[in-house]
Amino acid sequence: MAEKIYYSSMAYSRYEASGTLPAKFERMLNKYGPGERLNGKKVAIKMHVGEGITYSTIPPVFVRTLVDYVKKCGGEPFITDHYVYRRHPERRGYTPENLGCPVLDDCSITGKYYYEKAVNYKNFKHCDIAGLIHDADFFIDFSHVKGHGVCGYGGACKNIAMGCVTDRTRRELHSLEGGIVWDADKCIHCKKCIEACNHEANKFCEKTGVYRVNYHNCTLCRHCEKVCPVGAISLDTHNYTDFQEGMAICTKTVLDTFLPENRFFINLLIAITALCDCWGMTTPSLVPDIGIVSGYDIVAVEAASLDLIKIEDLIAAGVPSNITLGDSGHLFERLHGKNPYIQLDKLAAVGLGTREYETVEVK
Ligand code: SF4
Ligand code: SF4
Repeated sequence: MAEKIYYSSMAYSRYEASGTLPAKFERMLNKYGPGERLNGKKVAIKMHVGEGITYSTIPPVFVRTLVDYVKKCGGEPFITDHYVYRRHPERRGYTPENLGCPVLDDCSITGKYYYEKAVNYKNFKHCDIAGLIHDADFFIDFSHVKGHGVCGYGGACKNIAMGCVTDRTRRELHSLEGGIVWDADKCIHCKKCIEACNHEANKFCEKTGVYRVNYHNCTLCRHCEKVCPVGAISLDTHNYTDFQEGMAICTKTVLDTFLPENRFFINLLIAITALCDCWGMTTPSLVPDIGIVSGYDIVAVEAASLDLIKIEDLIAAGVPSNITLGDSGHLFERLHGKNPYIQLDKLAAVGLGTREYETVEVK
């Protein structure tokens, strides 16, 4: 059965503030938000506070709109992320004064406040749920949509899986990255694989001489494999899907600490850049700003968000000049070589929702 998602477009018909996105967002919340379900609850609003000189994270005006809405409904909101204390959120306007509520580190500033849950997916064994997320009564996942080098796409799932857990869990998830296998015994160190890589994704470690791949840059184009004269590089069955599947399992484990009626997902589709906000920089947008998608089914919200990002709308300046896009799949797959729908299929497989959605537009 199709799940409803709520959508407001950037498109406007007149020069009036009421016709622009923050005003539409407020109308969306008032009409379709959780309303009285927030009453009397501690409400965790999980967002990414950015890093370095990033300026493409969620603008404070949208955060303030959400915080004011939660308060109006009788909830007690707080903004949360990991490493808040060292990311200088104030540089992007994320202060309690501007946002109207505390801005807190989800595992505390020690990084040691968490609840451990056992999982069993390859190297991913510990899902350490951030203490403040776990202790909240209601969870709002407020995500900035963008690309991601390792999984193609970063949205609601990634905001939870990499942001509501400890360093140990992030390490275990990152250990699922990969796919390329190098055989040291076969390698004759001709360096053809390095020359063949158009993405500066591979190198030989200067100290150990071991072949290394940076999966943020690697598009799994397999040029390195194809040029190797001795067959020293191959792609194993543990390919790039493991990281996405691990993130989906992590997301399920975190969300299981909330009743389904105590979860709400909002994806902001503006400043859609190639890489994650944690890179500490902002590159040009890949497509024109699109709008906001929200709903109570994370899979439907993610599916609608991805579907709204179309290759036909590509702004060439958003793609680094040394990269040639692939010729098939979603824009993020052409850019990063990873099918972004894999994480959605795994989210659906673990019972978090459906890719089938019906759009309700809020004007
Ligand atoms: S698969 Fe392609 S992008 Fe990845 S390291 Fe090899 S040549 Fe570079
Ligand atoms: S192309 Fe093959 S043999 Fe040459 S350096 Fe790379 S892995 Fe080694």
